[in-house]
Amino acid sequence: MKHSDLPEWSARAARWAAEYHASLPERPVRARTRPGEIAALLPDAAPELPEPMEEIFADFERIVPDGLTHWQHPRFFAYFPSNAAPASMLADQLANAIAAQCMLWQTSPVATEMEQVVTGWLARALGLPAAMTGVIHDTATTATFSAVLTMRERALGWRGLHQGLSGAPRLRIYASAETHSSVDKAIRLAGIGQDNLVKVPTDADRAMDVAALARAIAADRAAGHLPAGVVLCVGGTATGASDRIGPALAVARAEGLYTHVDAAWAGAAMICPEYRFLWEGVDQADSLVMNPHKWLGAGFDCSVQFLADPVPQVRTLGLRPDYLETLGEDDVVNFNEWTVPLGRRFRALKLWFLLRAHGLTGLRAMIRGHVAWTRALEARLSADPRFEIVTTCPLALFSFRLAGEDRDARTEALLRVVNDDGRIYLTQTRVDGAFVIRVSVGSWSTTESDVMAVADILGELVGRV
Ligand SMILES: *Cc1c(COP(=O)(O)O)cnc(C)c1O
Repeated sequence: MKHSDLPEWSARAARWAAEYHASLPERPVRARTRPGEIAALLPDAAPELPEPMEEIFADFERIVPDGLTHWQHPRFFAYFPSNAAPASMLADQLANAIAAQCMLWQTSPVATEMEQVVTGWLARALGLPAAMTGVIHDTATTATFSAVLTMRERALGWRGLHQGLSGAPRLRIYASAETHSSVDKAIRLAGIGQDNLVKVPTDADRAMDVAALARAIAADRAAGHLPAGVVLCVGGTATGASDRIGPALAVARAEGLYTHVDAAWAGAAMICPEYRFLWEGVDQADSLVMNPHKWLGAGFDCSVQFLADPVPQVRTLGLRPDYLETLGEDDVVNFNEWTVPLGRRFRALKLWFLLRAHGLTGLRAMIRGHVAWTRALEARLSADPRFEIVTTCPLALFSFRLAGEDRDARTEALLRVVNDDGRIYLTQTRVDGAFVIRVSVGSWSTTESDVMAVADILGELVGRV
């Protein structure tokens, strides 16, 4: 395939994409494929000779669509959304065509400067202090890992980078059990060790008990350990729980600890001022992550970390060998020094397209619609004696189970029946040991009637368990 063939095939791909999206409501949301089925359709080795694009594209159409779980389906209510607005898709198409590696300012000045500007737009839209600077990572996992590495090195006076951890005191990081597993992973990978992630108890609202945090820090100091940082959550993954950010940050700051707030999903909702009570006090955080690739509509991957002061993180992650020196350009930002990977895609472009194509008003309307429809669905299920609402949250998420005898097994059976049916897709979690079904609303193309269909479909299928 030559560059001169690209326009024709791009047009073909664009037509395919339009037909695919139009066909989504008719498709089962979750793939019906059995393990190994797709791999068996593919040859064992790469072809020695070039194959015609016609054949490749025909195989794409034959093999790929049925092997997909359709994340852009209007009745995808599983996990959290991974939205991609059409404007973001278009920007990614352009970024793919440009195919720049944006590790340094000079390897594509527009990528760095646009990243600075659009993350600034986003900070303002979220009501964050103007002094917070943004940087785009691939995922929240990487942003949290970066923050945890910074906690480690700041506590060690940046000696760990050179000497390793073997002679160092035991570092301690604090988080509640409601935080995402990416925090556990960061602690493990940072060499701090899972046993040194102190899971601070939560109160009746599943928020970190701030007095217990203060006690845990004091006990660790008394034991000769080295408290390094606190990770807080806004909109936890299981049930949407949020820590009390202001009071928890106050304890951490009084103890001189570095702080990171994980608002990967819920952060997008903060473009609506009425939800900002959920992270009140966040302006005091050292680091904060939210994923425009979840609810906001920037296609995966696009995770924005905001830093009150980038210096500690750059001191931790930045490395400048001779071949990366940008001679005479010392006053520019080289974003690779802020992130784990060296190489960087041009991700700011899709955020720029998204924010301009919809405006904050359009994005707020999307989020407010999802929240209102979630509440209406929750009210319908709660009025039905066959169901019990187990957790609720102010955003577009709740969980429920079946009422009556043998609830765990019957709720699990219901989930299986629902997902095999295919019209909607839901996933599970456990709440205080009980099996519950989560309903997470937030697909870009979902409508009120898609959300209300959940109650109808559940009502129809519950008779089968
Ligand atoms: C989804 C999620 C993550 C992980 O996000 P990735 O971008 O996939 O790494 C972390 N924390 C919370 C609260 C999440 O909802």
